[in-house]
Amino acid sequence: MRSCVRILCLTLVLLLTGACAATPTGTASESEHKPASDETASSKGAIGWDDITLPSVADVSEEEAQSEAADVSSAATSSATPVAKLVLPFKRGINLQGLDGAEYSSGWGNTAYLGQDETYTNIKDRGFDHVRFPVDFRRYYDSSTKTLKSNMANVDMILDKIEAAGLYCVLDFHGWYNLNTSDATQKETFLTIWKLVAERYKDRSDLLVFELINEPHDTEGGNLNYVNLNALQNEVIPLIRQTNPTRIILAAAAEWNGPWMLLGKLQLPTDDGHIGVVCHTYAPLDFTHQGATWDGRSSNQVRFDPNNAAQTKDLRNAFTWIKQYRDATGIPVILNEFGVLHVNNNMDHGDATTWLKYVTDKCNEYDVPWTYWEYNMSFGAYRNGNWVDYIMEGLGM
Ligand code: BGC
Repeated sequence: MRSCVRILCLTLVLLLTGACAATPTGTASESEHKPASDETASSKGAIGWDDITLPSVADVSEEEAQSEAADVSSAATSSATPVAKLVLPFKRGINLQGLDGAEYSSGWGNTAYLGQDETYTNIKDRGFDHVRFPVDFRRYYDSSTKTLKSNMANVDMILDKIEAAGLYCVLDFHGWYNLNTSDATQKETFLTIWKLVAERYKDRSDLLVFELINEPHDTEGGNLNYVNLNALQNEVIPLIRQTNPTRIILAAAAEWNGPWMLLGKLQLPTDDGHIGVVCHTYAPLDFTHQGATWDGRSSNQVRFDPNNAAQTKDLRNAFTWIKQYRDATGIPVILNEFGVLHVNNNMDHGDATTWLKYVTDKCNEYDVPWTYWEYNMSFGAYRNGNWVDYIMEGLGM
């Protein structure tokens, strides 16, 4: 019974999503966007994750999840044929924070590591197979000429170094947290930037992967709820495909890459076998982000107990939802942000290891590739010239 209701709901959601996606709603706004200038732009708790009402299927058992996935899978196949399964060719990676930050505008600052060959050989030698390179491309785009600026040479140079080290690179359009596609200028800017970036990098090897947008949401003036996000992603993918027919493209789940926004919400082309999906998790946020001033958090110590079902619920559900979606669509999912803020706060280092082990064990169990947030800043796995033991132990590396 529950399954039938679920199929009906799913069908309804897909129909509604399709209808709405064709005619995105929203009032046109004349306001100009401002580039994200600091980490306040991504206050997950203050404006995002803590306020999200999770779907009512929360805390489904493994058996229920499997039978629901089977139901949903047959519902999905009856209306659309899933594409051949893509297996992402990378498993373990690390984020390179910085180029999107305020520090870039005043020079390389503490992002100098991005320009050093040793960074990439260090990452490769430690056993990672990919990096995720967040770039706010608005900093590299001249809106008057609608061309990429000469400072794109910095991005080129970093891509060269990553490739020379033999690492996959997920090039991520990061930082446009308040993108509002009902503003025609903003939407055109986003599409034009991707068209130009795709043209620029069309001859790069398959080691380069495009990620459409980081942590889209519909707060802070942004309008990327899942309906508008579906419309945007389905418009930008064909533009990229004009020049990059088979490059892997990673699309976003809505609500800050929320794993609960996959099945029945996310709609992607069904005839493209080179698409994957990005999810993030930092649950529970009061543990992973303790002391995050940009997130409005104090530095009180919050412990993590893997046997505390309330603390692990969102993590367990994340993997259930990922598996449901992957089974139903054949589209792989990568968890390309998760991590612990452990610098300048009271985080218990043993708990950090335990949380990371909990997440990476789940990734292994569910065969989900992952990318740690991040290399050498406040969540850093590599600090002051050394790999941080309690982080690396948690990552199983
Ligand atoms: C944001 C960072 C933030 C991290 C963890 C990223 O997506 O861009 O500013 O530190 O998430 O919250």
